[in-house]
Amino acid sequence: MRRRDFLAATAATVPLWRARLKAWRGRPPAGDAAPAPLARPFDLARVRLLPGPFLDAMQVNRRYLMGLDPDRLLHEFRLTAGLPSSAEPLGGWESPASELRGHYTGHYLSACALMSASLADAEVRARGDLMVAELARCQQALGNGYLSAFPEEFFDRLRAGRSVWAPFYTLHKIMAGLLDMHTLAGNAQALEVLKGMARWTAGWAQPLGDDAMARVLEREFGGMNELLYNLAAVTGTAWYAELAHRFDHERFFGPLAAGRDELKGLHVNTNVPKVIGAARRWELTGEARYRAVAEYFWREVSTRRAYATGGTSNGESWNTEPGVLAAELSSFTQECCTSYNMLKLTRHVFGWSADPAAADYYERLLWNGVLGTQHPADGQKLYYVPLASGYWKLFGDPLHDFWCCTGTGCESAAKFGDSIWFHDDDGVWLNQFIASEVDWADKGVRLVQDTRFPAVAGTSVTVRGPRPVRFALRVRVPAWTRGGGASLNGRSLEGFAAPGGYCVVDRVWKDGDRLEVTLPMALHASPMPDDPTVQAVMYGPLVLVGKLGTDGITDTNRRAEPTRPPRVPEFTYQPPPAPALRARGGDPSAWIQRTSAPGQPPAFRTSGQERDVDLVPFYTLVDERYAVYWKVG
Ligand SMILES: [Zn+2]
Repeated sequence: MRRRDFLAATAATVPLWRARLKAWRGRPPAGDAAPAPLARPFDLARVRLLPGPFLDAMQVNRRYLMGLDPDRLLHEFRLTAGLPSSAEPLGGWESPASELRGHYTGHYLSACALMSASLADAEVRARGDLMVAELARCQQALGNGYLSAFPEEFFDRLRAGRSVWAPFYTLHKIMAGLLDMHTLAGNAQALEVLKGMARWTAGWAQPLGDDAMARVLEREFGGMNELLYNLAAVTGTAWYAELAHRFDHERFFGPLAAGRDELKGLHVNTNVPKVIGAARRWELTGEARYRAVAEYFWREVSTRRAYATGGTSNGESWNTEPGVLAAELSSFTQECCTSYNMLKLTRHVFGWSADPAAADYYERLLWNGVLGTQHPADGQKLYYVPLASGYWKLFGDPLHDFWCCTGTGCESAAKFGDSIWFHDDDGVWLNQFIASEVDWADKGVRLVQDTRFPAVAGTSVTVRGPRPVRFALRVRVPAWTRGGGASLNGRSLEGFAAPGGYCVVDRVWKDGDRLEVTLPMALHASPMPDDPTVQAVMYGPLVLVGKLGTDGITDTNRRAEPTRPPRVPEFTYQPPPAPALRARGGDPSAWIQRTSAPGQPPAFRTSGQERDVDLVPFYTLVDERYAVYWKVG
């Protein structure tokens, strides 16, 4: 469609848009084509984590966030706006020479907003408020709605097709941070600053014809489309959605809409956010094409392009045809920001389908690809998760890295209450076995999930509320479980859902009622799709890694930036290969035995090998070399 036709077409649809957007503000839009999500997530502020590894990780992240100096995070913004700043610049991707500077400050806003909602934390919210107020001063000084830590000239270069890193990628982080501060932390000023940036963006894009805009979209632009759809939904203003359309990358969507995987050769994290934008377009407009794009993409990436961990990418790209992964194991596998974005997309997909397979995938990626990517001592984040044997997790430096994944990592570890629970009018889904309680205000009940998972294989839910209320409590029975059962107030329930489903108890619940569910875990192999002799070992949803010791890890390479190919690697250490393992049959329990007592965190050891190794859940291991995949004879 030419731009003129596009504008004419969208002008005609404005009234319809407005009706749908208004409807969406409180609940899903109504109408023939409008989708009705089956499962709705709870607001983050309604969910409280209880003691466990996820709450621990969130508190470590909180300390990291609050330890950063606002003046340093604002320094380049102030200079760009012509305001004085004597703060010491940050390093790495936030340094004065970096063309991505300012991106982390955007993530920081999001992280403060998410954390303040997750923990009902006034101090974190005040930090976010301060950042918004100072950024507003910068915007005011610039005078035209523009707000960035680099000059507008970067966008001139983008328009002219000259060399520049990714200006809209950076702008997206700032805009998304502002929207999060508004929607999650109640900051009204953040919305006004954001509207100014959206007006500036519209003014920048407006003179560009479709061909010129298509060229702009070939450069990484983060989730500009998603952000603008979200802004349309929050404000009920249709033209934000029209502006979002201009960031819908139709050249990329085309094959996906037709059910073709043409992802080979593409940069992964450039593209996942675009698909989240497609998901939002479907939710707002009911255009089936965009649901098809999102669902097809999600299925491909979560299955045929995923490692045992649930993660994707090697050297930041998809280098192969789907299902060809055995030769893709390297020290640059599974960029962490792709995991963050795949979790975000999965949340939408689950909402449309209530498909337990989506919740299973979420669990696998959350435990194996996200939880263990933050250093438990100081909150530092990973860039890549090496899946080649012998490497270790290379965490960033607190003030001198600020990778894309530092930013998404700070957001991930501020919202672990997300996607544990979903609901519809008739009941709740309990998807993740994470100690937490949810305040289901519509029904006047609180549901308290007590669990020591994975030390204990199962969970329990206690209902709290002043009066009896009927609803269905649906507890996920994962595909990995073997057997299992449920009991209500101490009495066994007959029958149990098959793995890959839900245990549903639909009744009138009263205060103190307690449902207990056991979900026995077993060892199982996760072979590569294209080479079954290359396998990871799993216990339930957890990838187990072999502990290979600390040889070769020094103070200087413990925190070095992993330079990715094809640049000359600074990360030159070539680790010795992991020992090959001799399997005895297809069941790993024939040659791997549990060494920890029941009720203790799971730990294992091989037997009968040339060199036996200890195995622990991947998320627990830091500062030590490991093997995820083994050559199994
Ligand atoms: Zn990244």
